[in-house]
This record gives sequence, structure tokens and C-alpha cells, in this order.
Amino acid sequence: MPRPILATIHTDALRHNLARMQSMAADARVWAIVKANAYGHGLERAFEGLRAADGFGLLDLSEAQRLRALDWRGPILLLEGCFEMRDLELCSRLGLWHVVHCTEQIDMLAAHKTQLPQRVFLKMNAGMNRLGFKPERYRAAWTRLNALPQVEEISLMAHFSDADGPVGISVQLEAFERVTRDLPGERSLSNSAATLRHVDQLAGRSDWVRPGIALYGSAPDFPLHSASDWDLQPAMTLSSRLIGVQELLPGDTVGYGSQFVAEFPMRVGVVACGYADGYPRHCGTGTPVLVNGVRTRTVGRVSMDMITVDLSPVPAAGMGSEVTLWGRSAAGAVLSIDEVARAAGTVGYELMCALAQRVPVQPI
Ligand SMILES: *Cc1c(COP(=O)(O)O)cnc(C)c1O
Repeated sequence: MPRPILATIHTDALRHNLARMQSMAADARVWAIVKANAYGHGLERAFEGLRAADGFGLLDLSEAQRLRALDWRGPILLLEGCFEMRDLELCSRLGLWHVVHCTEQIDMLAAHKTQLPQRVFLKMNAGMNRLGFKPERYRAAWTRLNALPQVEEISLMAHFSDADGPVGISVQLEAFERVTRDLPGERSLSNSAATLRHVDQLAGRSDWVRPGIALYGSAPDFPLHSASDWDLQPAMTLSSRLIGVQELLPGDTVGYGSQFVAEFPMRVGVVACGYADGYPRHCGTGTPVLVNGVRTRTVGRVSMDMITVDLSPVPAAGMGSEVTLWGRSAAGAVLSIDEVARAAGTVGYELMCALAQRVPVQPI
């Protein structure tokens, strides 16, 4: 028997989450964001559940090629645009739309020889200060792009820094609106957090929304809201089994560094899952985990290939019992990846993306 760890990708959950985002932004089209190998789910596997999207947003040309190989003929948007001249040829060949966020990318376009003018998304830096033209430089960039024969159509784009938190989007949305009010072109503004949390403010202002994390069933504003508050379902389950059981007496310790000390007689289960599988090493004692669908906690340090869990709430558990590290148990109990991420001081995004190569993945 192979080592029992497994990542399951839930195609029906991807479909459900996409439909949720479509209904949240009823008059907008949806870019399903599938960068980073569909947030660790596998581009080909995720595509199956997300094919009802209006387009796909990603970063890597190789991922764009994989989508075209799946026979996706609809829009694909390169979210960071082109990195060098050569990429523009591939954009022409594969019909990719691309973001333009800096002067150098306009220079490349101006030098690009093509019969087919391209569709670009001009990005404003509305305050995040990563990519994009500052509001006061935006119109000049637009004017220059608009004069290029290489450009077919310009859409307008921004990305909010605080859609998931208390600051919100008002200031950045206002900066975008002030500068773009009389410019033609479609607009694209919202990630998952903006789409879910700022529906009213954005109504009628966005032609394309760009959800990523919500499609995979994680709440962008956890712990303020959980995935189930937003009616999102986990698209990835990480599961394994107990491969050992130990009976502890008071004073016995568990794992490297003897970080956990038993206070009472108790049973602990040893799970075939460790940090080399992508389970975060920063999860200390008390991280939630399901055994036979029953919620319990990890004890002691996460090691490379194993973690240990408290079996007190599941006395019937033993060798071979089902363990759900995150996602959905066989009987349907859900442990959100966001709760595990919080225990590790990080976010669901990082855990999904960090699923290790050695973990077999099965779409259902
Ligand atoms: C990754 C990304 C998104 C998706 O963000 P989520 O928080 O995962 O919804 C949207 N827009 C851009 C430009 C991105 O890079």
C-alpha cells in the first residue's frame, strides 16, 4: 500500500464556488484566477471545475500554454503582463490579453511587430504601490497606448490593498474613478475580498471581477468571516491515516524537543503527514484536525513525515483511522484550511500553494 497521504480536489466545490462568485457580481464577467498552478490545485484539474468562467487570469506563459492545450479558446489574461519582447509574440500566437503596468512594457509593445493588435489591461497603482501607473501618470500612459497600432483595445484595471480589512476600498476606488471617469474601456477591479465584501460600492463599476482564493473555498477575510459564512466549499482536502498509536502516562512527552507533556493518561495517534508534505511546521500543539471526522488537536512538534494527534475525543480511533488535515472528511465534516493556516500564523493561500510534490493528488 502506498503511504496513505492524499490530496483530493473537489470539482463540484470549484463549480459551486465559481457560481457563488458569479452571483455576487451578477452583472460582471469573471476571470477565474489560476496562477501558481491554480493555487496548488493543479491547473488541469481546476480547469474542469472552472470552465464556466468567462476567462482565466494567470502569470506564467507556460500556464497559458497549458490552458490552450486543454482547448480553452476564451480569454486568458497575463496578470503581470509581459516580461520580455519574446512574450509578446506568444501573446499574438496564443491570443493572450496582457496587463501593462509600466513604461517598459509600453516600449516593448511599440517595438512589437504584429498583424494582430492586442488587447491590454492598463493597470493603475491606486495605492498598493506594487505594480501600476500612479494616478497622475495614468492618463498619459493610456494616451500613449491608445496611439499604438499594436493595441486593439484598452481595459482599465486596479487592485485594492485593503479589500479584506477594516480600511476598505473607498480611497483607492475614488482615486481610480477620478482619473478614469471619462476614459472608455472595460473595468476590472475586484479580487475575492472586494467581490464578496464590497458588492454595493462596486455595483456597476466593474465589468470583470478577478476572484482567486474564494474559488478554492477559503475566506479572504478569515477570521472575520469563515468560508462557510460566505457559502464557499473547500476545493482541496488533505487527508491521511493513523500509522501508529501510543498510550501516554502523565509526564510522558511527544515528538522532537519534548514540546508536549501529557498531564493525564491519554492516547495519541501518529499521522502520515509532515512538513515535507506541505503541512506547516509552525503549527503548534492545539492545531485543529479531524480524526474519523471528529475534531481534535495536534500535540507536539510537526516533523518531516509525521504529526501526532490527541485521540481523547475519538476513543474508537486506532491504526488506519481517517485523518483530515484540512478540507472535508469522508462523512462530510469540514475543517477549513483557514483554521490550520491561522494556527501556523499564515493564510490559506500559502498552505494550498505549498502542497508538496510528493503528495498524490486525485480529482473527484
Ligand atoms: C492573485 C490576484 C487576484 C486574486 O486574488 P484573490 O485574493 O486570490 O482573490 C486578483 N487580481 C490580481 C491582479 C491578482 O494578482
